[in-house]
Amino acid sequence: MTFTISANGYSISLDSKESGADIDFISHAHTDHMGAARSSASVLSSRETSYLIEKTYGIKVNACKDMPEGVKLLDAGHMLGSSQLSVTDNETCSRIVYTGDYLLQRSRVANPIAIEDADTVIIDSTYPDPKIEFEDREEVERSIQLWARTKLKAGTLLFGAYTLGKSQELVAILNEIGIEPIMSKKLAMATDAYNDLGMGLRYQSVYSEDFNRSLISENEVGIVESNSLEKVATMLSGLNGRRVYTAVATGFAAIFKFNTDVQFQLSDHADFRQCMEYIERSKAKRVFTRGGGAKALAATLRRRGYEAEVYGASTALSSNLVRTDASKASGGD
Ligand SMILES: [Zn+2]
Repeated sequence: MTFTISANGYSISLDSKESGADIDFISHAHTDHMGAARSSASVLSSRETSYLIEKTYGIKVNACKDMPEGVKLLDAGHMLGSSQLSVTDNETCSRIVYTGDYLLQRSRVANPIAIEDADTVIIDSTYPDPKIEFEDREEVERSIQLWARTKLKAGTLLFGAYTLGKSQELVAILNEIGIEPIMSKKLAMATDAYNDLGMGLRYQSVYSEDFNRSLISENEVGIVESNSLEKVATMLSGLNGRRVYTAVATGFAAIFKFNTDVQFQLSDHADFRQCMEYIERSKAKRVFTRGGGAKALAATLRRRGYEAEVYGASTALSSNLVRTDASKASGGD
């Protein structure tokens, strides 16, 4: 078995479908973490995550009946319902926490992260580079609001954003300055699901499939999926003859140059600085890294004196902190 934690007589898979796992943990409702959603007979996730998966992707998850012994879900701060998994072994009292995607800065549409003491942490490593430091979130939000206020006088504004999480954050940021954006059908559906869970987000209307002219008679602010931003911008400028200003809001804006008029560094992930803060606050003695930058992050942490290695396909953790079928991760690079 891979990507699992074993404790108190059961094994839990971590954001992936693993043969032999008794329970499948889904940390949040992003598709790259939902591998077990369709086929699992016993899913462990927050109530919000199950709801968002069902409403947005039409997948009914089979929730596990009871919270397994020694297990606790902790808020991860990444998106609505995002959770970390905390597993404490009954006999040794040692604790492993798996973060999933997490954020230490405060998001408008997620509960703030909870960090508790742990012996071992399996930490997400989306942004492993110490040189990447995200701007202060409140400043980024103010920049978005200023840009929207100013440019709206000159034309139509169009944001590209992820379906769940980022789109709703943008709505909240725009709502604060009195703008109720128009959304694509898919994003509107996701926003409705957020509202069902008490978010109170306001959007004005939905871009219909044929881009009904009546919706675009005035300058407005729209939000569409990132991958259709260019197409929709072209269609809108063709229809209303106005200038369409495009924007993306993503952590990748700290790394890449997007083909848009403006890009905002609005990330739902921790950067390296936040990662270090997490590890310090958790008092973890041992760190496993997981995700795209896992190797780089583990190497950087080792250089800084931490016991850190990649949580790989051959790393099954049991709660007494012994890797049951481990082969040593590549070290020293
Ligand atoms: Zn995510």
